Amino acid sequence: MSRTYRRLPDDFGRERSRNRRTEEGFLCRRCHEFADAEAPGTGHRNHCPRCLWSVHVDERPGDRASPCGGGMEPIAVWVRPGGEWALVHRCGTCHGVRVNRIAGDDSEAVLLSLAARPMAKPPFPLERLPRRR
Ligand SMILES: [Zn+2]
Ligand SMILES: [Zn+2]
Repeated sequence: MSRTYRRLPDDFGRERSRNRRTEEGFLCRRCHEFADAEAPGTGHRNHCPRCLWSVHVDERPGDRASPCGGGMEPIAVWVRPGGEWALVHRCGTCHGVRVNRIAGDDSEAVLLSLAARPMAKPPFPLERLPRRR
């Protein structure tokens, strides 16, 4: 008895999905808008420029090595030492946290509302802060 099937390379699906993403962009699972692959100011687009949600496909940026595939919610803005803004994403499936560069065409309104969220909901009354005379 001989084998009639040909074994596919281990990275077959991954290679194909990476090519599709870099050539054509992707459809956002969250807001269902199409995002072009071209992302100004970053090597590859890893989140939707409109709602900033992402999908957990990378172990390290761009490697497409994660089997998780969970939706990643933007939970915070992180200001790097040089002043560059980065997005903190948390995966809804494995709860892993990732930091991603922002792109030049990311929604400024969504970025600002994310950055302002802690200030809009302080965990203590502001009138308790000490005042100078
Ligand atoms: Zn989106
Ligand atoms: Zn995950």
